Amino acid sequence: MGVIFIPKNTPAGIQLGYVQHEYGHYLQEQSLSRSVYNKMAIASFLDAIFSNDHSHFWVETDANVRAAAFFPPTLNKADIHNEALWPKVPNH
Ligand SMILES: [Zn+2]
Repeated sequence: MGVIFIPKNTPAGIQLGYVQHEYGHYLQEQSLSRSVYNKMAIASFLDAIFSNDHSHFWVETDANVRAAAFFPPTLNKADIHNEALWPKVPNH
């Protein structure tokens, strides 16, 4: 899908993390077949609507894991390596 989604009014420090997180979805797209990736995207879209803890949905945490492996840590405390903002362990 390759959609970059950065919510309006995102604090400046968190924008780097969002870009890195979205790059994690790009890495998913590169490593998975089209049909698997599309199923994941639909599951994640539905979870975003119906779950109140979407950041811990496995598709999202998987994107964080991939992005954290790709990007080295930075001095930005809100980057993808921040576990509270970008959790790596799913709960559903
Ligand atoms: Zn995401």
